[in-house]
Amino acid sequence: MTDGPSYGFDTLQIHAGARPDPATGARQVPIYQTTAYVFRDADHAAALFNLQEVGYIYSRLTNPTVAALQERMATLEGGVGAVCCSSGHAAQIMALFPLMGPGKNIVASTRLYGGTITQFSQTIKRFGWSATFVDFDDLDAVKAAINDDTRAVFCESIANPGGYITDLDAISAISDAAGIPLIVDNTSATPYLCRPIEHGATLVVHSMTKYLTGNGTVTGGVVVDSGRFDWSANDKFPSLSEPEPAYHGLKFHETFGPLAFTFHGIAIGLRDLGMTLNPQAAHYTLMGIETLSLRMQKHVENAMEVAGWLETHDAVEAVTYAGLPSSPYNDRVSRICPKGAGGLFTVRLKGGYDACVKFVDSLEIFSHVANLGDTRSLVIHSASTTHRQLTPEQQEAAGAGPSVVRISIGTEDPADLIADLNKALNASK
Ligand SMILES: *Cc1c(COP(=O)(O)O)cnc(C)c1O
Repeated sequence: MTDGPSYGFDTLQIHAGARPDPATGARQVPIYQTTAYVFRDADHAAALFNLQEVGYIYSRLTNPTVAALQERMATLEGGVGAVCCSSGHAAQIMALFPLMGPGKNIVASTRLYGGTITQFSQTIKRFGWSATFVDFDDLDAVKAAINDDTRAVFCESIANPGGYITDLDAISAISDAAGIPLIVDNTSATPYLCRPIEHGATLVVHSMTKYLTGNGTVTGGVVVDSGRFDWSANDKFPSLSEPEPAYHGLKFHETFGPLAFTFHGIAIGLRDLGMTLNPQAAHYTLMGIETLSLRMQKHVENAMEVAGWLETHDAVEAVTYAGLPSSPYNDRVSRICPKGAGGLFTVRLKGGYDACVKFVDSLEIFSHVANLGDTRSLVIHSASTTHRQLTPEQQEAAGAGPSVVRISIGTEDPADLIADLNKALNASK
């Protein structure tokens, strides 16, 4: 099909990027399980290697199954291009890599997935990069944290472990004024609930491991580019605006315009960092995305019902679900994620750490796992697992203190989920 702006989300999630296979007519996107592609002749090979012609060389860089997924994700997010990667964490490095250099920093929200806080506060230091974490509700603090060496602002739309929605319009106004890109991790919301580019995001990253695949079978990530950032407006982004020695002095922004970031991501990022998504994983993710809107609607419906019920239980101190009227972020739902606040939230138990441990051990339908965004309902006690590497202050700031359990609501019958939670909460007391 030709992708037109007239097609709705439910149509695009099935058709975008997926044309009948030109060789066989196969209606479903084939898994191109191949490492290399035969060149027509030596001139064709040279043109491909010089980036004068777009085509397939070697599956570390490009693969037709992965390309279909890239096109689908770019379409669903309203971007111009996308680069798939081997995991969500790989996508974050791939998003930052063209922007950063030794001595450069990012300004990041305190409310992030625990693994991202660790990646940004520890591991990126090995590249000479650093991160400053600030409360993204304190807009003056965000402005004040940006300095001449800042190369990106980073936040999550609906923050993991849940309950917090970033005011993307306010944050993008700040990053725009500073002339630096805004990177939004849209994993918990998915493009069905939130479209960060419409709120000013430059790049959108995902862990496709979660709702996009949707059934806990794949580890994958993606970087989607809005195509809207002017990489040549100043001298801050030389990887994109200056001559690239590895391609005979080619300037990515001058040559590829709005696709500069995507071409750089493939031609330099995947070529040299090698964080490639494999075609089998791309296939599972394409399958998952076909039902994204249906699943997200059910996740939201179930989360509303279960979170509302949990608030009334006497073992529960608080439920942080932005879909509930009691949430301080409830008024951001209609503006930032109008189709609902997702399926992820936390519950704070009156009994503290010990009650949380008993609670997760007493559940039957819910599995205690380090994953989210599955059709299955999942829980995790973040303080003893995903957020274990953080200081108690960082845990509280991330919404993952010792008496907090993160709940990822699946698509099962809500009455069964409530009965299971009720039994485990009573056992936790
Ligand atoms: C899981 C997750 C990541 C990391 O993704 P992986 O695929 O596990 O590498 C990043 N951000 C958020 C919000 C996540 O939930």
